[in-house]
Formats: sequence, structure tokens, C-alpha cells
Amino acid sequence: MKILVCVKVIKGELNPFDESALECALQLSNDVTVLSMCPESAASTLLPLTRLGAKVILISDAMYAGSDTLATSYILSKAVSLLEYDLILCGRQTVDGDTAQVGPMLSQMLGISLVTNALSVSVKDMTVNASTRMGDESVNLPALVTVERGYVLRFASIFSNPGKVQVWDNSKLLCDSSKCGLSGSPTRVLKAFESERGKRKCKFITMD
Ligand code: FAD
Repeated sequence: MKILVCVKVIKGELNPFDESALECALQLSNDVTVLSMCPESAASTLLPLTRLGAKVILISDAMYAGSDTLATSYILSKAVSLLEYDLILCGRQTVDGDTAQVGPMLSQMLGISLVTNALSVSVKDMTVNASTRMGDESVNLPALVTVERGYVLRFASIFSNPGKVQVWDNSKLLCDSSKCGLSGSPTRVLKAFESERGKRKCKFITMD
């Protein structure tokens, strides 16, 4: 079974939800490809994932800078369309942008089934079964599942060697420039601030 895992690099680290999705993928298959849209400087964060046996594709092009979730999903969908896959795993959300939009948008653009917020995932007879807080869900492959933080990413074996991070730019993806970057991003961030309203007091109690 071929699994693609979408990961976002945040300040030189993997988004924790995406680490969980990657571990989930490694438990399900030995044919795992990691996709990450990030600056080429993030290759050093992605390289260690090759020691886990994953293929790694870094997607980067000046044209993609300033992309919002819609443009990011479009660019990822163009990369995915160049690959064979049965299942795509994303994290539930990132810990910076925090929107949880990319997984669902990507599944819509690819026209495949979607299950969100999976606590655990299994696959049998071309059906993916995901357990969520809302109950169990089953959908046919190909499908996209977003994964909670339940899985702990394994350490690489000391006997493993790093492979190569492939870099794909727009000469490979052939994205429509009007759908990428700022021009392809309908979101406008007017202001970012911490809300004072609804701030709650928190009291820590001991076990006793
Ligand atoms: P979520 O939707 O919460 O992520 C869900 C899951 O999708 C992740 O767990 C992961 O599996 C997958 N995923 C998310 N992002 C990626 C990725 N990049 N590669 C692979 N998988 C991924 N960010 C920049 O870095 N540079 C910019 O110049 C920039 N400009 C922006 C301009 C605007 C107007 C806006 C609104 C945002 C901009 N961003 C930029 C932020 C960027 O849009 C988000 O980082 C990106 O769309 C992911 O959104 P999110 O963090 O909410 O992810």
C-alpha cells in the first residue's frame, strides 16, 4: 500500500501532528512518501526522515511564497497528482496556522474520501478504518485521513543511512501561477492579536 504523508516544517521542526501521521503511516506500510511545501533550507529537518525508510519530496518555488491554505492545498494537490497512492495522511492541524483546513481542502481537490481527527487508523481489503472521538469511520481507498497526536514517531535505527531529499519546483508541478502565492490566496489577514474576551482563570489542583 502506497501512503503519502503531508508534513509542515515549523521553525526547523516537524509539526507534531504530522510526526504522529508519519508514525501511523510507517506502521501501516513500508512504502511511505513524505511531501512538504517549505523553503529549501528546511531540507535538513526532512533529511532524517529518510533514515526511517520514507521517501521525501520537498516542494519549493518562489512562486509559492505567500500561499494561504487554499493555494497550499492546490500546490500539494498538483504534487500528489504526479504520484501513485492509496492513502494520504495529514496531521489534524498545524500548531502555528492552526486552521485544520489543508487536509480537507486537499481531499476535495483530489476528489477522494475524507476522515478527520483519527485517533488510530487501520486498513483492510482496500477500506480504511479510522477511530475518532465521534465513533468509528470506514471509507474506501483512495482516501485522506487527518490524524490526531496519538502516535509517537519512532527513532531511526543507528544502522540506517540518510537517503536523498528530492526537490520539486514549478518546472515539475506546472501549477497555474494565478492559483499560487499571494495572487492565488483569497485570505486577507487584517490583524493578528490575542483575544482578551473569554479568557478563563485556571486553577491547578494536586492529586490529593
Ligand atoms: P493546517 O490546515 O492546520 O494543516 C493541516 C495539515 O495539512 C498539516 O498537519 C499537514 O499535514 C498539512 N500541511 C499543512 N501545511 C503544509 C505544507 N506546507 N506542506 C505539507 N503539508 C502541509 N506561510 C508561509 O510559510 N510562507 C508565506 O509566505 C505565507 N504566506 C501566507 C499568506 C496568507 C495571506 C496566509 C493566510 C497565510 C500564509 N502562510 C504562509 C501560511 C500558510 O498559508 C499556511 O502555513 C499553510 O496554508 C498551512 O495552513 P495551516 O498552518 O493552518 O495548516
